[in-house]
Amino acid sequence: MSEQFDRRNFLKMSGAMLAAGTAGCATGITGSAVAGSGSSAAVATGMKAALPAAKGPRLVIVGGGTAGLTIAKYAKKEYPKFDVVLVEKRDMYSSCFSSNMWYAGLIDLEFLADHSFLDAARNNGYTYFNATVTGLDRTSRTLATSEGDIGYDFLVVAPGISYDYDKIGVKDAGAQAMLRQTFPGGFISPTEHVTIRRKVQEFEGGVFVQTVPSGNYRCLPGPYERACMIASVIKKNKINGKVLVLDANPDITIKAAGFHSAFNDLYKGIIEYKPSSAVTGVDVEKKMLKTEFDSVKFDDAAIYANVRGSTLIEQLGLMDPKSGQKEAAIDQLRYSIKGDDRVFVAGDARPHPYSKSANTANTEGKFVAKVLAARAQGKEFAWVSPRTICYSMVNADPMEAISVDAGYVLNKEGTAVGGFSPDTKLFENRDSAKGKATLEWARGMYRDMFEA
Ligand SMILES: Cc1cc2nc3c(=O)[nH]c(=O)nc-3n(C[C@H](O)[C@H](O)[C@H](O)COP(=O)(O)OP(=O)(O)OC[C@H]3O[C@@H](n4cnc5c(N)ncnc54)[C@H](O)[C@@H]3O)c2cc1C
Repeated sequence: MSEQFDRRNFLKMSGAMLAAGTAGCATGITGSAVAGSGSSAAVATGMKAALPAAKGPRLVIVGGGTAGLTIAKYAKKEYPKFDVVLVEKRDMYSSCFSSNMWYAGLIDLEFLADHSFLDAARNNGYTYFNATVTGLDRTSRTLATSEGDIGYDFLVVAPGISYDYDKIGVKDAGAQAMLRQTFPGGFISPTEHVTIRRKVQEFEGGVFVQTVPSGNYRCLPGPYERACMIASVIKKNKINGKVLVLDANPDITIKAAGFHSAFNDLYKGIIEYKPSSAVTGVDVEKKMLKTEFDSVKFDDAAIYANVRGSTLIEQLGLMDPKSGQKEAAIDQLRYSIKGDDRVFVAGDARPHPYSKSANTANTEGKFVAKVLAARAQGKEFAWVSPRTICYSMVNADPMEAISVDAGYVLNKEGTAVGGFSPDTKLFENRDSAKGKATLEWARGMYRDMFEA
């Protein structure tokens, strides 16, 4: 299997993401419907947040995930005059990335969660504010939160993603809530991970379904890596069961050769892979789901629905009404809302056809920090491609992984992201060196986000 640039996989990878990402944004500046700086989801509470008076231009960042934590740290480094406040609704951090390895017992919960928002803020000279953002008034430059209003000079909104259950035929709000509670996808919140891990530990046999959505979903290799990790538990414990991967896509969307070889060599008879199997409905009570061609009875499942930009983006009036995935209406090169140079969106809520991953959000975050520092001084900073470096653990004993290292290029007009850069490489031969690198990469991410 080639370790170099693999054109077929490259095309497959970029096709899916381009189709999902760039719908409706030929010019890179999306959502001209989001008018100027006047429009507002004006719900200011009138109660001022208990924060110290700003000692410089106040930069407020919404979301303490990979993007927000990175931007808070690096914006302060790039422009120390900034008075940075990070607003996060969670009071406990736990990463989505690496969570699949927890299901197979390769890491413990501390590995994911032993990281403090307080330490990150203290180590990097900004303020962590534990509150839920509820509204935005761009006229008065006021962010409304559950703990009071915060005035800003610059605002970055990085709230991640939400599930779009309508796209898998589950349209009723009650049914959506029941589905998420009973068979969570496990691609947004830590409490989903706890539930899925319990399911894997209690699995006694039969069919465990893992679905893969269409579009530019979060962490393209994530569902396939998870199938390998669950299969490794079935294999180790000699459980009479299988993992059925129902993929809405015509084939594995990334590192396909590497995952197919793992499925066939390591998990023959344990992992069954079904492409072009988009979910069109789920009966939670009967543990049945429908695809275009099939009805599937299962014993347990992680049903990963299509994703969209976080509903907060829409709630704050920052969504591009033409975006197929309800993502933000920002200029792809300048990262700010058209007509409002003070409001930015970053991370997985972005409209760019980048792979929605932590490494992308982290390297993008360092670029956005430079844009913010320049903007605060009346200057601009030219677009730089983020990097998507992503390891996927496919074997648990011994720990073996595959990986990709991707960059991006602009379209011919130079106005929006056009696809992967030619120096993109796939490393699809699994080995233990990459197995070790998978854990080292994650430790590096935590150090970068939480330490000085
Ligand atoms: C199972 C799994 C495996 C993965 N594996 C990898 C991997 O191997 N490599 C890789 O690079 N990436 C991986 N990823 C992807 C990676 O975790 C995400 O792409 C990345 O974390 C996105 O960062 P973000 O900051 O955009 O969003 P998030 O990390 O989701 O952060 C958004 C934050 O905003 C907060 N927020 C939302 N709404 C509000 C509100 N109203 N008020 C206040 N706060 C709010 C949320 O609480 C959250 O903390 C994986 C993801 C999953 C789920």
